[in-house]
Amino acid sequence: PPDQDPPDPNKKTLVILGTGWGSVSLLKSLDTSNYNVIVISPRNYFLFTPLLPSCTTGTIEHRSIMEPIRNFLRHKKTAVQFYEAEATKIDYEKKVVYVSDDSEVRGDTSKTEVPFDMLVVGTGAENATFGIPGVKEHSCFLKEVGDAQKIRKRIMDCCETATFKGQEPEEVKRLLHMVVVGGGPTGVEFAGELQDFFENDLRKWIPEIANNFHVTLVEALPSVLPMFSKNLIDYTEQTFKEETIEIRTKTAVKNVTDRYIEAEHVDASGQKVLEKIPYGLLVWATGNAVRPVIKDLMGQIPAQKDSRRGLLVNEYLVVKGTDNIWAVGDCAIANYAPTAQVAAQEGSFLARLFNQMAKTEEIESELHGLSEAQEKAPNKEARDKVFGQMKDLQKRLRRVKQMGPFEYTHNGSLAYIGSEKAVADISWWTGNLATGGQLTYFFWRSAYLSMCFSTRNRILVIMDWIKAKTFGRDVSRE
Ligand code: FAD
Ligand code: NAD
Repeated sequence: PPDQDPPDPNKKTLVILGTGWGSVSLLKSLDTSNYNVIVISPRNYFLFTPLLPSCTTGTIEHRSIMEPIRNFLRHKKTAVQFYEAEATKIDYEKKVVYVSDDSEVRGDTSKTEVPFDMLVVGTGAENATFGIPGVKEHSCFLKEVGDAQKIRKRIMDCCETATFKGQEPEEVKRLLHMVVVGGGPTGVEFAGELQDFFENDLRKWIPEIANNFHVTLVEALPSVLPMFSKNLIDYTEQTFKEETIEIRTKTAVKNVTDRYIEAEHVDASGQKVLEKIPYGLLVWATGNAVRPVIKDLMGQIPAQKDSRRGLLVNEYLVVKGTDNIWAVGDCAIANYAPTAQVAAQEGSFLARLFNQMAKTEEIESELHGLSEAQEKAPNKEARDKVFGQMKDLQKRLRRVKQMGPFEYTHNGSLAYIGSEKAVADISWWTGNLATGGQLTYFFWRSAYLSMCFSTRNRILVIMDWIKAKTFGRDVSRE
């Protein structure tokens, strides 16, 4: 067989950018025999992000929540082409995506163009820094596997450096001060995991650090987890107090250096105060920003000029101002929160839409064939027979075309808050159920376990949980 299958000239080329929640959910339900499908992403795996905070402390090993895209694609009905590369520019007029392989190993060809008839953009978002000086240089983010690995290494580096012979007490305090900026679910879940790591393992393995290890969560708004119910916010803040995680609300970080952050808060007299907070580890979790490739695409489309947060899409997820580009997930603005739940539902909606579009085209071409056959029919009996077939097809076509717009079903929000407790806002038949505690934690575990990508992932995650509980988390610094 040839190294790479040439595209079928009778089919449209559907290019899908990204291998995250949106794109992979589309690929799961897409009938790939209808299109020449090409997937382009710098990441050749799907990442189950809800369990990523657990990878920062080794509760879960990162490979347990990764699923190789090749493994998934090889089970599709018709071959799907995958290129491990980043889309650097989407030319909307020319219908071409420019891609670049920026991985460590590059061949003589590392940049090329991929033409498309239809394009799905599922490139997610990048980390928001709000242009605050020093953030990119000095903090760790928590979005990708590499980020979690970096944090895990850094936690141990801080602990080992703090116990270095002759380290001054002030410096020990700084090194063991773990600061998390952003009180959204990412920041809260990470702070909880980190405190667990300290309480369950670090305290025992390195007793010298026990008096100085300290986690602080800094949030600009008056409370953490603003998207959760008021009683769950209070429950989280109370639990953090018991876990001795310090929460600094109404405190906005303005500047970051390699050793301290400068944060502004209003003191009791109503004065704005700028405070220096020294840190050993700084994790920055202040939400999403638009990727440059998306900004560039928005710049090419007049209908997108007023958008700031991402690609404006209509109710069928078509990028406004275009007719052959769709967007899913964090890069699309469809009035929903940027969550995996939304991205996954958008992806499967698009799969249904594309499957139906292909069916529609197939029926329309069959109808065309039948109308020609009817004209050529030798007698009335043959004409009537064809007419009957056409009527059936038209009925089928009407049914296929009856596809409503995308509607999001919110199943609820879940977050782990440490010490084997979780909070959950769940949509129930009778309304909303807001619950927190240990029982919710078991629900959190089973819910995320059932949502894992594959049985392989599920087994690996269970094994990691058992391993961490039995032997403690591994404190070696890789
Ligand atoms: P992503 O999943 O981020 O995927 C984007 C894909 O595009 C990646 O494969 C990336 O490599 C690729 N890509 C990037 N740039 C390019 C480019 N230029 N060209 C081609 N491909 C590109 N949501 C929940 O609902 N529940 C949770 O519990 C939850 N927990 C989370 C925990 C963490 C730590 C984080 C960071 C997020 C969490 N989220 C959660 C949010 C959720 O992960 C995102 O909303 C979701 O990943 C968005 O899906 P997406 O497909 O838009 O983007
Ligand atoms: P977020 O946008 O939810 O929260 C970021 C927080 O950072 C905000 O509360 C904001 O006020 C704060 N902030 C911004 N600038 C600041 C500054 N300079 N100083 C101090 N605080 C500052 O971000 P996230 O937690 O990364 O979540 C991103 C998306 O992913 C959200 O939609 C979230 O729902 C989703 N997510 C969900 C889960 C879950 O369901 N368990 C977990 C993680 C992420």
